[in-house]
Amino acid sequence: MANIKCIGILTSGGDAPGMNAAIRAVTRAAIYNGLGVKGIYRGYKGLVTGEISEFRSQNVSNIIQLGGTILKTARCKEFMTPEGRQIAYDNMKKEGIDALVIIGGDGSLTGARIFAEEFDVPCIGLPGTIDNDLYGTDTTIGYDTALNTILEAVDKIRDTATSHERLFFVEVMGRDAGFLALNGAIASGAEAAIIPELDTEVDQLEEFIKNGFRKSKNSSIVIVAESGLTGGAMHYADRVKNEYPEYDVRVTILGHVQRGGSPTAHDRILASRLGAAAIDAIMEGQRNVMIGIENDEVVYVPFTKAIKNNKPIKLELVNVLRELSI
Ligand code: ADP
Repeated sequence: MANIKCIGILTSGGDAPGMNAAIRAVTRAAIYNGLGVKGIYRGYKGLVTGEISEFRSQNVSNIIQLGGTILKTARCKEFMTPEGRQIAYDNMKKEGIDALVIIGGDGSLTGARIFAEEFDVPCIGLPGTIDNDLYGTDTTIGYDTALNTILEAVDKIRDTATSHERLFFVEVMGRDAGFLALNGAIASGAEAAIIPELDTEVDQLEEFIKNGFRKSKNSSIVIVAESGLTGGAMHYADRVKNEYPEYDVRVTILGHVQRGGSPTAHDRILASRLGAAAIDAIMEGQRNVMIGIENDEVVYVPFTKAIKNNKPIKLELVNVLRELSI
């Protein structure tokens, strides 16, 4: 361990339920191991503006159950410039911070990788995103909670869809990844999922209609990933209105409800394990890795791998959905 006495912790990019559990875990594990902790507010922005304060164990009391992030989050353009990162580095040194733990998604870890390379600062990343789109970890902090929020909503939509014998397109988040859409569809018993990963291969709407939409059912729910690649739920609803005007179509865009709420037990445990492991990694002298979970074991994934590689969708899941929606 390269003489690390104090760590800084920040949450950056899109918020995700379980970020607070991760902040708590990192803070408590650091203190347990004799390290000082500083909380950096509003992601990289706080590093640039110097919004930093000392964290003690009590600062993270009673937060494990809260959605959002007590450290706030933001997007920071200055950090994307060398000048901005220089100011961030100077502030870090001024505050006596020797290493950073960054909780965030793809973009946040990209920023961490660049910062770590430029200034030789040990940075440890935790995958905090509802999208589950980071390579090298089976799941990300917030994903399970978002999935459960989707289920709750789709179960309710199913009631009205059945009563009116309608076709519903339900749009869920996920950026350019279809994990929420695909697993949300399987878990809610939806008829199909339209996901960006399959968009280049087949016309997913054609396939869904061809496979017998409504032959024996009195309602149908299709979960659509929000991605620009698929065009989202509105695009498919418009297509059905034009190409199959006999169907009664409705659209629900779930939106930001998916980002909030108290984290599930799964996300709290995941965040606690990853947060504690981040401090273990620092104590071991690891740097510039994301902490992930693979086959229920903690793994260290180099930033370059976590960010650059596309996490593949399991085709088995696509087949399960297809088979079970007949
Ligand atoms: P997420 O972490 O959820 O993917 P963003 O993509 O918005 O969210 O990234 C969060 C922040 O990370 C950005 O506002 C910026 O401060 C930082 N960041 C993202 N990409 C870069 C980059 N290429 N260089 C430096 N900083 C970056």
